[in-house]
Amino acid sequence: MKKISVIGSGVAGLTAALRLQHDGYDVTIYEMRKEVGGKMNQIKGKGFTFDLGPTIVMMPQIYYEVLAYTGVNPQDYINYQTLDPMYRITFWDGDIMDASTDLTKLMADLESRGDDVAKGYLNYLDKTYEKYLVAKDHFIEKSFRSRLDFYNPKTLIQALKLKTFDSAHHTIKKFVKDEKIQKALAFQTLYIGISPKKGPSIYTIIPMIETLYGVSYSKGGMYSYAKALEKRFKELGGKIEFNAKVHEIIIEGKETKGIKVNNQRIDSDAVVCNADFPYAMNNLIKNPKAKGKYTETYINNLDYSCSVFLMYLGINKKVDLKVHNLYFGSDFDENLNEIFRGELPSDPAYYIYSPSQIDDSVAPEGKEALYVLVPVPELKTSTFEWTDDVVNAYREKILTKLEKLEGLEDLRKQIDFEEIMTPVRFEKELNAHYGATFGLAPTLKQSNYFRPRNVYPYAKNLYFAGSSVHPGAGVPIAITSGKLVHQEILKDTKE
Ligand SMILES: Cc1cc2nc3c(=O)[nH]c(=O)nc-3n(C[C@H](O)[C@H](O)[C@H](O)COP(=O)(O)OP(=O)(O)OC[C@H]3O[C@@H](n4cnc5c(N)ncnc54)[C@H](O)[C@@H]3O)c2cc1C
Repeated sequence: MKKISVIGSGVAGLTAALRLQHDGYDVTIYEMRKEVGGKMNQIKGKGFTFDLGPTIVMMPQIYYEVLAYTGVNPQDYINYQTLDPMYRITFWDGDIMDASTDLTKLMADLESRGDDVAKGYLNYLDKTYEKYLVAKDHFIEKSFRSRLDFYNPKTLIQALKLKTFDSAHHTIKKFVKDEKIQKALAFQTLYIGISPKKGPSIYTIIPMIETLYGVSYSKGGMYSYAKALEKRFKELGGKIEFNAKVHEIIIEGKETKGIKVNNQRIDSDAVVCNADFPYAMNNLIKNPKAKGKYTETYINNLDYSCSVFLMYLGINKKVDLKVHNLYFGSDFDENLNEIFRGELPSDPAYYIYSPSQIDDSVAPEGKEALYVLVPVPELKTSTFEWTDDVVNAYREKILTKLEKLEGLEDLRKQIDFEEIMTPVRFEKELNAHYGATFGLAPTLKQSNYFRPRNVYPYAKNLYFAGSSVHPGAGVPIAITSGKLVHQEILKDTKE
C-alpha cells in the first residue's frame, strides 16, 4: 500500500487525503494546529462560535461531491440549506438591496432600478454563464502539468473565449450601467483578494454563480464541513497527527522521499503539501537545486492577494440583520486604491456575517454572533505596521462605523466576547505568506498554466493542493485543487 504524507488539513488537504484514503492509499495528515480546517477553523468563547475565515458557501454540490466519492450519502454528514436573500447590500446612500436567488424577487428589485438595469443584469448572467462553462471544462477542472497542456490549439481557442484580458470592472460596466449594481458585482472579486480593476474578467463569474446556484448554510457554520471531512477520513482509517509542524520536505536528487516532523523522518511514497505554496517553497524545500525557479526572491516578488482585518464580536442582544450583510463606504474606488496601495482604508466597505440569525447553536439565547470583515492590504505592500496602537485605532474606527447601524447604536456596551484577527496573525498562525489570506493573487500571469502547479515540476512524488496553486482560492476551488491532486497521484501510481 502506498504511503502518503499530507502536510496540512485545510480543505484542499482534507479533500486530497480523503479521496486517496478511500482509494486504498495509506494516508497520514500532519497538521501543525490542534484541529483540522486551516482557515476553515473556528473561534469559540463565552458560548459564542465564529467561523474563523470562510463563511459563504457557493456551489454546495462541490462540497457534497467529496463525501459522495467515498460511497456515502453526503447529507448524512452535512446538510446545506439555501439562503434567501443571499445577502443584504447597504449602499453608500443608505439604499438597501436584498439580493435574492429567486428570479421573481430579483427582477422586482432590478426593475425598480430601471428596465435597462434588469436587462443589463440578465445579459450579464447569460454571457457570464457561457464563460463559466468554458472555464469549468477547460481550465478549473484541469491540471496543467506541461506546456503542451496549455499551449495547444484547443485550449488556446477556449482561452480566447474567456476574454480574460479585460478587467472584471470593465466587463461589468459593459453590461450594467447602474453604478450601485456595478459596484455590488465588482465587490465580489475581493472574495478572492483581488481588485476588480486588476482581476481578469473571468472573476465576474462569482456573482453569477451565487445568483444561479444560490448561497447556502449548514448548521454550526462553515467549520462543520471540515469536521465532516475529518469524520469520514477517520472512518476510512485515515490518520491525523495534530501539533505536528513539518519542517522539511525531503527531496533527494529529483525524488521526494518524505518529510521531517519534530526532527523525525517520515518516509513516504508521495507528499501532498497543503501548506501555502509560497511559505512551503521558502521554508520546507531546503535544497536549492530542488527549488527550480522558485527561489526566495522569485517567490517574494510574486503578486499577493489582499488580506483582512477581522473582528469576532459576541454581543448581548439580538439585532435585525441577514446572515450575510455588505456595506459600502462613501467611495468604493478610493477604498480599492487604498487597499492595493498598501494603506489602511479610511472609509472601508465591510461585511458582517451573523449566522446566529438562523442558527441557535452559535450564540447563547438572546445574543448575537457578529463576524466583521474589512479588506486591508497584505503585508508586502503595507505602508504601515500592525502595532497594538494601529490595531486599537482601527478597531475604534470600525466600532464607530458599526454604531451608526440601526440596532447597534450602543454596540460598545453590548460586547460580551471579542477577538481580532490581523494579517500578521494569518501569517504567524496559518503560514499564509505576507498574511495574504487568499494566497497568490489570481492575476492573468498567475492563473491556469502560469499558477504554481498541482504536480511539482522539479521533483517526483510531490504535489500541491491549496489556494496559492492551481486553480486558486475560495473553498470550492481549493476543494477542486485537492481533487486534481488526487487524480494526478492516481495517474502516477497506476501499476
Ligand atoms: C477571512 C477569510 C474569508 C474567506 N471567505 C471565504 C468565503 O466566504 N467563501 C469561500 O469559498 N472562501 C473563502 N475564503 C477562502 C478560503 O477560506 C480558502 O481559499 C480555503 O479555506 C483555503 O484552504 P487551503 O486548503 O488552501 O488552505 P489552509 O486553510 O490555509 O490550510 C493549510 C493548512 O496547512 C497547515 N500548515 C501550514 N504549514 C504547516 C506546516 N509546516 N506543518 C503542518 N501543517 C502546516 C495550516 O495549519 C493549515 O491547516 C476566505 C478566506 C479567509 C481567510
